[in-house]
Amino acid sequence: MPIDPTLAYDDHNVFAKILRSEIPCRKVYEDQWAFAFHDINPQAPVHILVVPKGRYIGWDDFSTQASEAEIAGFVRAVGTVARDAGLAEPGYRLLVNMGQHGHQEVPHLHVHIFGGRQFTYMIPRE
Ligand code: 5GP
Repeated sequence: MPIDPTLAYDDHNVFAKILRSEIPCRKVYEDQWAFAFHDINPQAPVHILVVPKGRYIGWDDFSTQASEAEIAGFVRAVGTVARDAGLAEPGYRLLVNMGQHGHQEVPHLHVHIFGGRQFTYMIPRE
């Protein structure tokens, strides 16, 4: 079910638990601002999730409430993770699902990094 982004941040969401090491993940990267791990249900040969360390539900509250340092650090981390995964040259796709229409399921902001194959249309045609 997509989340309701008007609700308060839920400290029990699955990515908050991963950040606190309460549940396992296949960790890829960590720095002051971001944490990255392999998606549990990969949709491409490479499917990595990058989450900010701060308590942000989605792109809306992150883009309005995060500090310049948090935003810069997070964006740089996404690029670093993709580059370190060997994706910069063949290319990759970034995706952020936001709120109900975006079909966001986990209420902690995450950027999907997809790579390792050729992609076609951005959004499935109806
Ligand atoms: P969303 O639809 O919110 O943009 O994407 C949520 C993503 O989180 C999905 O791709 C899903 O496979 C992934 N996911 C959900 N629970 C877990 C988990 O416990 N561990 C990991 N590594 N990924 C998860």
